[in-house]
Amino acid sequence: MASKQNYVKKMEAKNQQRTDAGVIADRFPTVEGMVINMTYYHNAENPILMQRTVNFFPESHAFFNLECMIKGCEKGGFDLKRIISKQIKDKKKVIRGEMSCKGKSGDLPANHSTIDYEINITYSTKSRKKAAKKTKKK
Ligand SMILES: [Zn+2]
Repeated sequence: MASKQNYVKKMEAKNQQRTDAGVIADRFPTVEGMVINMTYYHNAENPILMQRTVNFFPESHAFFNLECMIKGCEKGGFDLKRIISKQIKDKKKVIRGEMSCKGKSGDLPANHSTIDYEINITYSTKSRKKAAKKTKKK
């Protein structure tokens, strides 16, 4: 029972974070679409845990905190927000990198989970007007 309540609480917190993050069309009006390809690794003999592709659209929430797939990891995950904000600022189409989960919990080692990511962004050519308008705003 208690764990179910915790889960609900966790989901509610996550939904709130999502809502707070706003929508891509508002936050990043030049972005028409985004695809994030990730490979999850964990600290094991066969290190590839899973591969995942996440698609974002202008109406998607600008929430780029991807959860850690390791059971029992508390407050972990991979927050790509800063990386993506910089990528959009620099108008880069593709960036690649890696990140390790900062989550800690009991006996989880520091290197329990890492990802390789590739972020592909398509920029809209039509929203130049909108972007110009935005710079006018203080
Ligand atoms: Zn983790």
